[in-house]
Amino acid sequence: MAKRTNKPNEPTDVATCSFCGRTNEEVFLLIEGMNDTHICNYCVDYAHNLIAEEIKRSQQKPVAIDFRSYRPKDLKAKLDEFVIGQDAAKVNLAVAVYNHYKRLSHQQESPLRKGDVEIEKSNILLIGDTGTGKTLLARTIAKVLDVPFCIADATVFTEAGYVGEDVENLLVRLLAAANYDVEAAQRGIVYIDEIDKIARKADNPSITRDVSGEGVQQALLKILEGTEANVPPKGGRKHPDQSYIKLDTRNILFICGGAFDGLDKIIAARTGRQTVGFGQTADRRPEVLRSVQPIDLKRFGLIPELIGRLPIITYLEPMDRATLRAILTEPRNSLVGQYRQLFAIEGIKLVFQPEVYEFVVDKADELKLGARGLRAILESILTEAMFELPGSGATEYVVTRSYAEEQFTKSGLAHQQAA
Ligand code: ADP
Repeated sequence: MAKRTNKPNEPTDVATCSFCGRTNEEVFLLIEGMNDTHICNYCVDYAHNLIAEEIKRSQQKPVAIDFRSYRPKDLKAKLDEFVIGQDAAKVNLAVAVYNHYKRLSHQQESPLRKGDVEIEKSNILLIGDTGTGKTLLARTIAKVLDVPFCIADATVFTEAGYVGEDVENLLVRLLAAANYDVEAAQRGIVYIDEIDKIARKADNPSITRDVSGEGVQQALLKILEGTEANVPPKGGRKHPDQSYIKLDTRNILFICGGAFDGLDKIIAARTGRQTVGFGQTADRRPEVLRSVQPIDLKRFGLIPELIGRLPIITYLEPMDRATLRAILTEPRNSLVGQYRQLFAIEGIKLVFQPEVYEFVVDKADELKLGARGLRAILESILTEAMFELPGSGATEYVVTRSYAEEQFTKSGLAHQQAA
């Protein structure tokens, strides 16, 4: 093969790429093959990428999850490394996930015959305040199992035909997370946040948003129970002549989460218990929420069919001070560990005086954002240092309580708290 060069003024000899039709002049290099065929540098690049993608894809071909290597106890132990507390939720999640992949393996090994018992999938509902670790649990379990994972916010979806995202878009995200490997996506995990915000209004007068929650619930239901969804390859609105990717959602595990404000009152009304005891200051909400039943969710405004598809309901405890304190330093990936690492990359040893942790926990407790507040507070304390230190030659940076207080007071968070 050789580079083809046209002699000037020879219009009959204009060589073109046999793949894209570009002429000699439009490309950097045109390589000649047999029988007067050519390929240009653009098509070579394209083909190269295509081959690389195919090789990657073939190496990732479905490794069916061997459920035996993920016994519930092992799963819980893995979750313990990353998530502090929330034992009841962890146990429920570990069992549900184990059963889910057991069902999948069983299906693959011995396809269902007439008369066999069909094990239904166990999607999960996590109920808990913001920042209690719902997303973290879902993300961690997907990481442990090494399956594709995506997060979707139920509030962005609308019924088909309305302005907003189609529910199928969450599958687009899952597919992208699976590098467009359909089989892998079909065994993935989807976390749907804020599921409580699409409750229908009729049942729950406290919901004031004007989206047709019920329509979105119906659309979600289809995907949750298992359907062959047509997924537009690049997301966005469906278009009549877009070619779709078929994705079977039967084996995708859905984990839904929400804070369900007001659910405690519904449960209390059913059980005759009070959320705040007469003459008591202790918040009985957690205690009440632990006895949540499907009927309460119906009264809250979820449609019965959707509740039926979320058979595992579990509750996450609110963050107390001890948990907040532990979250700062204990988990793998702990927040403090992450900041230490950021400074270490710069060659700086980051040291916190122990009283700083107390201060951060105090403020997080006051902000009522659960563990979510911790990161924001640490960020407000460290931003100035992260601005000033790079290139300064410093090798150690000690954060004292008075410095932390000063930085926090200057930040927007302190004002948010005051508001
Ligand atoms: P939620 O989904 O319940 O609102 P997230 O899971 O998004 O809360 O939590 C926000 C952040 O707080 C997480 O990224 C994590 O750093 C931290 N976090 C929350 N709960 C825990 C927990 N139980 N253990 C460790 N970290 C937690």
